Amino acid sequence: MATATRFRTLKDMPSDEYLTPGNTMCAGCGGILAVRIFHKVLGPNVTWVNAAGCMTIAVSYPLSPLKSNWIYTAFASAPAGAQGVRDALDVLMAKGKLPASEDMKVVVVTGDGAAYDIGFQSAAGAIDRRLDFYYLCYDNEAYGNTGFQMSSSTPFGSASKTTPPTAANPIGNTHRKMDLFEVWRAQNAPYVATLSNSHGVDFLKKVEKGGTIRGPKMYIDFAACPTGWGFDPKDSIELEKLAVQTGIWPLKESVDGVVRHTVVPRSLLPVKEYLTKQERFAHLFEPTERTEAIRTIQESVNSYWAVAGAKEGFAVKAAEVT
Ligand code: SF4
Repeated sequence: MATATRFRTLKDMPSDEYLTPGNTMCAGCGGILAVRIFHKVLGPNVTWVNAAGCMTIAVSYPLSPLKSNWIYTAFASAPAGAQGVRDALDVLMAKGKLPASEDMKVVVVTGDGAAYDIGFQSAAGAIDRRLDFYYLCYDNEAYGNTGFQMSSSTPFGSASKTTPPTAANPIGNTHRKMDLFEVWRAQNAPYVATLSNSHGVDFLKKVEKGGTIRGPKMYIDFAACPTGWGFDPKDSIELEKLAVQTGIWPLKESVDGVVRHTVVPRSLLPVKEYLTKQERFAHLFEPTERTEAIRTIQESVNSYWAVAGAKEGFAVKAAEVT
C-alpha cells in the first residue's frame, strides 16, 4: 500500500529555510542545493556530520550558512561520528535529560570521494550496526574540493585531473562508475534512493519516506558541478534534468531490497545531448569524434533500462546507437 505523502507538487515544498543566502560554495553547485532541500523536509532538529569535501568549505568556523548543528570529521569517519551523536542523544533521552521533542535527526553529508572511496569502510560498519541515520552523498563524480581528481564515481569517458585525455588514452577515464546504490542494497540497508535536484517532488517524497524507516538510509544526489564539469552555472538544473531524460541518472529507490524506479523516461534522449554540454566530455567530440566511446556509453544506458524494464514491467524506448 502506498504511503500517504504531503508532497504532491513543488508548491508543497516547505517554505522554511535553514540555509541562509550566501555561502562559499561555487555558483550553481548541486550539492548545496541538495542540502537545502533535504533540510526543508527534515525540519530544524538536525545534526549534520560532514566528512572532508567541498561542503566543508561552506561551514568554516566561526561562519556558517546553516541554522542547524554541524560537526566535521576526517574524510574516512563521518558515519562513526554519526554513531557517536546518535548514541549521545539516545543516552540523554534515556536519562531524561533531553525531551523526545528535541531529538535530532543525524545526517552524514559527504561528496562521492568519501561515500564511494575513502569513507566507505566506516559506512559499511554503520550499515552493519543498523545505525539509525541518514546519509546524503552529493555526487559530483570526482574530488571537487581538491581540483577534480577521479573518484570511483567518475563516469567512463570523463576527463579529470588524474584522467586527462592523452595521445595514448584519448577518452579520459576508462573505468565504469561504481554502483553505490547496489553496494548499499547488497548490505541490506533498509532504504536507498537516488535523487536529482531537477525532480523536486520525487526528491521530497524520498526524504519523507526515509523518515518512516528506522536504520541506515542512503541518498545519492546527482550534484551538478559547474566548476569541475565545465558548464555555465545557470544550467545546473537543466543538466541534471538531461541526465534523467537520457537515462544516465536513474531515479529509483530500494525498500528492504526491493527496487522501484520512481521516474521512468518512456523514450531516452541520446546521451550526446548530455555529454556535449560539458567540458569534461569535450575530448569525445573534438578534434575527432570518439564514436566507439560514445557508443559504449549509449549502449550501457540502453542496456540498463532494458534490464530494469524487464524486471519491473515497464518499457523504455532506447536511444539510437550511432
Ligand atoms: S567544485 Fe563542484 S561540488 Fe564543489 S562546491 Fe564547486 S560546484 Fe559544488
